[in-house]
Amino acid sequence: MDTNDAFQLHLQKLPPQDKKTFETIYTLGNGHFGIRASNPLQGNNSHFNGQPGLFVNGFYDLTQLSYGENYSGYAQNSQTICQLPDLRFIIFELDGIRSDETPYNVKLVDKNLDMRTGVLMEIFDIKSPTNKLFRLTLQSFASHADKHLFVIKYSVSALNFTGALTVIKQHPYINQQIQSRTDDMRASRPETALDRTFIKSKLPIMLISTRKSQLALIVAQQALKDNPMQVGMIDDLPCHNKTFDLTQGMSQSFSFVYAISYPHPLLKTTLSQSSFAASAEKRLANKSFKQLLDESAAKIGEFWDNSDVELTGDTALAKDIRFNLFHLYQAAGNDGLTSIPAKGLTGSGYEGHYFWDAEMFMLPFFIYTEPAIARQLLLYRYHTLPQAQRRAREMGVKNGVMFPWRTINGEESSSYYPAGTAQVHINADIAYAIDTYVRVTGDEDFLYDYGYEIIVKTARFWLSYGHWGKDIAHKSKFVIDDVTGPDEYTAMVSNNYFTNRMAQNNLSIAVKYSNQLKHSHAEKLVTLNVTDEEIAQFNQAADEMYLPYDDQKKIKMQDDLSTSKPVWPIKETPRNQFPLLLHFHPMTIYHYQVNKQADTVMTDFLFPKDQDAAQLKRDFDYYEAITVHDSSLSRAIFGILAHRLHHADDAYGYFMQTVMMDLSNSQGNTSDGIHAANMGSSWLSLIYGFAGMGLEKDSFNLSPELPEAWSSLRFRIWFHGRQIEITITQTAVTVKLLSGNPIKFYLKHKAFKLTKEQLVNHFLK
Ligand code: BGC
Repeated sequence: MDTNDAFQLHLQKLPPQDKKTFETIYTLGNGHFGIRASNPLQGNNSHFNGQPGLFVNGFYDLTQLSYGENYSGYAQNSQTICQLPDLRFIIFELDGIRSDETPYNVKLVDKNLDMRTGVLMEIFDIKSPTNKLFRLTLQSFASHADKHLFVIKYSVSALNFTGALTVIKQHPYINQQIQSRTDDMRASRPETALDRTFIKSKLPIMLISTRKSQLALIVAQQALKDNPMQVGMIDDLPCHNKTFDLTQGMSQSFSFVYAISYPHPLLKTTLSQSSFAASAEKRLANKSFKQLLDESAAKIGEFWDNSDVELTGDTALAKDIRFNLFHLYQAAGNDGLTSIPAKGLTGSGYEGHYFWDAEMFMLPFFIYTEPAIARQLLLYRYHTLPQAQRRAREMGVKNGVMFPWRTINGEESSSYYPAGTAQVHINADIAYAIDTYVRVTGDEDFLYDYGYEIIVKTARFWLSYGHWGKDIAHKSKFVIDDVTGPDEYTAMVSNNYFTNRMAQNNLSIAVKYSNQLKHSHAEKLVTLNVTDEEIAQFNQAADEMYLPYDDQKKIKMQDDLSTSKPVWPIKETPRNQFPLLLHFHPMTIYHYQVNKQADTVMTDFLFPKDQDAAQLKRDFDYYEAITVHDSSLSRAIFGILAHRLHHADDAYGYFMQTVMMDLSNSQGNTSDGIHAANMGSSWLSLIYGFAGMGLEKDSFNLSPELPEAWSSLRFRIWFHGRQIEITITQTAVTVKLLSGNPIKFYLKHKAFKLTKEQLVNHFLK
């Protein structure tokens, strides 16, 4: 195995972890599905302590939520991503003993992920109950060229015998029985049961369906032409099987490709089984491992061309950064019907739900580097507008839409509303993301066809949910009561600063785009019933939004009452009592000033022009002291702000904790899946933090400053259809236009013109 290259993630070089954590770290995916890198002999066998599974984006079942007191409007069902048969699973038979019936001894020898091509290489030494030892080498990848395909090559070599070894590739179970542990208090206990039938075909083709959500998925298996295998029936199940005559020291290889369909409504799928079979047979015919690999590697090569961040001066860190970017790419839905689950497609943590994580923490990476994916992720929200509209009415909100706090199918799935549904800021987060997308890409078609409608309907929500203040403190101000901000250790408050500031932005951009489209596409406003009167209402509410401020402490107040509460004794709380939510009743926590994660300071991060350096410092110092970072979404934001305050050591420290979170399993639950938002935050820290990227009108600004330990940082962005490469060293910034028309941009707020003929070199020191 080549272990030196900057794209190789080699097991021996990683900090030691438990097996399940490595299964997550080495998960392969392509936005459509993810497959954990588990022991390929495990199946349902409880003898092995792993958590194998295939997760398909958007393939979930419903679990009825049970409440002691079931109030009107409570989410009735949770959606749970299905844990499907591990396609890596394989059965061996030696001396008449099958590995799925009598456990063989499986020892992991090595793993290496080549992030440049997306190929995972693994070596296991396997001993049969009759003491025959053979080495199994796997090479697998999730295709990035054809998102339906998973490809795996098995090589076996006998280490201490010469003789017959039978291989059976079938899936005798459909539901991984292994239950995963989760720290998510609000997770339902899934009662999902999957059904499976085999479609009539020349190949083993499973139709897997859910009972309550009535979704279906088709998984077809084909042996690749490199070493064809017979299709047969064993134990009444279709399979590929073959007996190899192994000679000690010699190896034999065989490979498979799987086609995994996108989720379908069950009825439609049942009706068209024969056409599915025909299309799978055609799709899988005559392929070789090399051809499939070349196609996929070319595609992932394009991703690296667009999205790589090249750091010099710290080789290990450069690779760790790539690990974060690689997982983001593997996790992002790109069919307009799915998004990015909080744990990517690497595990069942958070039940596979999409949160604000996607729009606020991960989307910027795609907006700047893979705008076509960003567009698809935003389209997912557009396609769930009907559910968001129904939800608003169900919640008594007369106008606008209310996006769910956590969901897969667009319906609210949070069972604990104070830290779930009450996070209505999700509406404004989505609007903020659309605005960023449009400003960076200039994609006016998206704005016209989809984005504007979301922005208007979310703005309408604020007018309905908020109201004009009457008491002295809030007189003539627009106030928003009964919400929870990002900090889930404070709930159901009035005027959460973050929510109000984001709502203000939502209303302002509704005004901005209404005025813009009024001139170019007046018919759009007519279709959506946007009148001058409504625009004026948006404007007024934005102008008069109440933003709580503590005049004595001179800080932004998290909410109307926040600074009057006692501060939680963080230093006196034993380490083993964190995360607090696992050890204290929510009301005990709500009683204090203690933040689970960045909340008010998120506004310092998102709206840098709102405050001067002195204000930023006061906000930062105050909130850092009461934040315990029990959420993985927290540290990076503090790190970026520390950087803006020129606290170099703190910025670097927070950044390292962000980049290493899953590789070092610092949250203790990487076994349940990666922390995808945190991975997005690694990119945010580099680009919004160290490179100092910020948006200007029709342009961008860079205010770079590298940590002392780094020699250079190079990355590419797309801006209004131009590709631009930025290289930052300790002393200079070089900006290069790779494609597209000249553009004006800013370096430390000084304007420069970038043309193809000319690089911009700017000396920092
Ligand atoms: C955080 C939320 C986040 C969710 C999913 C929670 O612990 O408090 O902000 O959206 O995890 O990552």
